[in-house]
Amino acid sequence: MRIVVLTGGIGGARFLVGVRAYAREVGAEVTAVVNVGDDLLLHGLKVCPDLDSVMYTLGGGADPERGWGRVGESWTVKQELAAYGAQPTWFGLGDKDIATHLVRTTMVNAGYPLHAVTEALADRWQPGVRLLPATDDRLETHVVVELDGGQRAIHFQEWWVRHRGDVPTHRFVFVGAETARPAPGVAEAIAGADVVLVAPSNPVVSIAPVLAVPGLREAVADGPAPVVGVSPIIGGAPVRGMADRCLAVLGVECSAAGVGRLYGGRPAGGLLDGWLVAEEDAGSVVPEVTVRAAPLRMTDEAATAAMVRAALELT
Ligand code: GDP
Ligand code: CA
Repeated sequence: MRIVVLTGGIGGARFLVGVRAYAREVGAEVTAVVNVGDDLLLHGLKVCPDLDSVMYTLGGGADPERGWGRVGESWTVKQELAAYGAQPTWFGLGDKDIATHLVRTTMVNAGYPLHAVTEALADRWQPGVRLLPATDDRLETHVVVELDGGQRAIHFQEWWVRHRGDVPTHRFVFVGAETARPAPGVAEAIAGADVVLVAPSNPVVSIAPVLAVPGLREAVADGPAPVVGVSPIIGGAPVRGMADRCLAVLGVECSAAGVGRLYGGRPAGGLLDGWLVAEEDAGSVVPEVTVRAAPLRMTDEAATAAMVRAALELT
């Protein structure tokens, strides 16, 4: 059995721990297609927050409390940069984490495409899942906001980390999406999948930029494999993060049904065959989609693997 998972960072990473557990049980192969819209250059380093969240989490090196970055991290470089007044100061890179970005940046500068760099980094972490960036090309999520008395587009990370999404926001733009191509292996994985799972990631800034890569949405929506999504919204609120703010920008109701309708049913030109919602949201209706309820809190590996099983039972 071959499982493809469309995913963002922390929420998707936790979900993948359960997918991997399920896959080990049944002998399945897992490919994760990971959002790159959050990627940015910081102090000359190429940082891929979602790829790193997935890699560190599956590799057992993530900080479980903070949710992002490395466990047992130190911040000497950050303090030294601050002492120089180096900008930006609102995005912290830990010392251990910086080693990852140094290796990645060196390889990218030497001409290696991102999927090859990702494979090389994963060689250390042995995530047990094939990690593919959605694209090797530049695709950055920018946010059009009202700031300093005018309309400006800022990088998603500036909106998210610096402003906590708390600034009048008009829309999200996936810069570079028109000319991006799916990374090698992505279209093949989707075409060869027995099922495609949409992780309970942020639909607006994690999953949408993956689907914005030309050909990728079509590969999933018109592909042979059933598509099942898992709701990141439980009882009208995100479990963590600011999906509610992102959904509000799109004018989408922050509910399991709202996100399900945003993805849409495949027969109606959307993405989903099945939509797994939390027990609190049982009775949610998404036209042309089979909706089922199950416990959706990813408290540990076993609970998350049970979620994955419930999602697969929807196919
Ligand atoms: P990011 O890229 O690091 O922001 O992470 P993702 O986009 O992959 O995941 C963020 C989403 O995960 C948020 O919208 C949360 O609501 C969702 N999430 C986090 N923990 C859980 C959980 O235990 N259950 C469910 N269903 N969703 C969760
Ligand atoms: Ca992210």
